Amino acid sequence: MSERLDVLRLGYRMGRDPRITTHLALVARALGADGFLLAGDEDVGMFKNLESVSDRFGGVLDTEHVSGLGHLRKHVENGGVAVHLTMYGEPFRTAIPKIRRDKPILIVVGGAKVPGDVYKLCQHNVAVGNQPHSEVAALALFMDAWFGESGSERTFDGARLVIEGINGGKLVHDSSDEEE
Ligand code: SAM
Repeated sequence: MSERLDVLRLGYRMGRDPRITTHLALVARALGADGFLLAGDEDVGMFKNLESVSDRFGGVLDTEHVSGLGHLRKHVENGGVAVHLTMYGEPFRTAIPKIRRDKPILIVVGGAKVPGDVYKLCQHNVAVGNQPHSEVAALALFMDAWFGESGSERTFDGARLVIEGINGGKLVHDSSDEEE
């Protein structure tokens, strides 16, 4: 059984970031995160949407609104590993073999402005290329490299919408129709 993996999104702004942050959470969920933590503005609606995705497609994604630096500090003090995704970090393919897998891991992604303490508190500052791009792309590539194919090939327990390939076509079938 692998250690817990959570994604922490810093500096969330309700008016500007909901779509990209929802995508970030969906990527985190789809590729194997146990939890998605949001710092900055609170967004109960987004957490409800994510819950509804897990309700339909299975699995569990814990969601929590946290204080960014406070949570990060506590995670590290409790012995966890923190990995900050930043274009100023070490290339991810060389960094990953050095990251401990026997401790809970927190993957930190930034928002508009990342406080300097984040770089110091995280044991690993990791780059997915050295150009600025997207937190969604950076997270997806990192998680793919971290989990290998077990990330994207995973199955989700308790899915209500089951999608099966039939002769190249697709059948979407709501298993809740069969209850009772
Ligand atoms: N201007 C911001 C700053 O002060 O760092 C960067 C904003 S960027 C759109 C949002 C987040 O995407 C970053 O904080 C980082 O987590 C992630 N990101 C963007 N490019 C990246 C890269 N090349 N490697 C790793 N992460 C990256």
